[in-house]
Amino acid sequence: MYVGRLAPSPTGALHLGNARTFMIAYARARQAGGRLIMRMEDLDHPKDKPGAAKAAIEDLKWLGFDWDEEYTQSERIELYRDAAKKLIEKGLLYPCVCSRKDVENAQSAPHAGEQLFYPGLCRGKFASWDEAEKAISPRKPCWRFKVAPNTCVSFVDNFAGPYSQEVDKVLGDFPVARDKDGAGYTLAVVVDDLAMGVTEVVRGDDLLPATPAQMLIAKSLLQPSTFNLQPSYCHVPLVVGPDGRRLAKRHGDTRIASYRESGVSAEHLIGFLASSLGCAENGEEISLETFAERFDLSKIDHSPCKIDFFDTRLAATSIV
Ligand code: GLU
Repeated sequence: MYVGRLAPSPTGALHLGNARTFMIAYARARQAGGRLIMRMEDLDHPKDKPGAAKAAIEDLKWLGFDWDEEYTQSERIELYRDAAKKLIEKGLLYPCVCSRKDVENAQSAPHAGEQLFYPGLCRGKFASWDEAEKAISPRKPCWRFKVAPNTCVSFVDNFAGPYSQEVDKVLGDFPVARDKDGAGYTLAVVVDDLAMGVTEVVRGDDLLPATPAQMLIAKSLLQPSTFNLQPSYCHVPLVVGPDGRRLAKRHGDTRIASYRESGVSAEHLIGFLASSLGCAENGEEISLETFAERFDLSKIDHSPCKIDFFDTRLAATSIV
């Protein structure tokens, strides 16, 4: 049985880009006759915005989304703590006291992107979290995952195709949680996908480089006989603005709520996004259900979906 999920983070309002990815996740689950889970990923406290979780659910319902089960990560902390405990007992996590500056200074080559390579400076340095905490108080340590030498993770993404990453050389020992109890975002995503029996993760391809690390965590939580319980992945291109950068405020107001408030119908928005996915004519208005019937993964362009201009009603907006 196919199990898919929508996993919004309440760090801001839902915009066209998020909606497009969720439409694909929805269509994949409905076409497979499977279950769809709504999982609110509200563990990133510094970035979470009050009211954003409720607003995202309202926006999705307005667009025509429905789902079969609903979860909120902040209500599942116990599960993440148990998983962290298991990894600590296996000796797979260790506390790290390095600051971002320390990690930057430890780079042997210039790096691109947000993720820095970590050469294991704190590996074996502290016997416990408390010891590490004392050493850098009032700053806080983080938990890092020990990556063995020559750890190359390869998989075939359902959309992006073959992908492989030499995790020990690209990421090194990557961070998994910022709290002593280990209930952090990276671990939570993996634990939930396994616990909820997710069979396919559909999400933006900005997360493709983070997937090998998540797969390593998943494997370390499973017995070899249950490795097949890991989800498959389907990373789809993001929506970008005219400058080629990921859709954001700088490109104008593309919040779903703002279109709704200015009188644009859900069918118009779905039709607009569906046309960017090869499933509707320009200007055609369709329901999410119709989109889900028409959707075909093989029709999606592999390059980012570039939207070159915005007006308040999308009529003058083109997709290139
Ligand atoms: N909650 C994450 C986000 O909104 C997505 C995580 C995932 O799909 O695994 O960026």
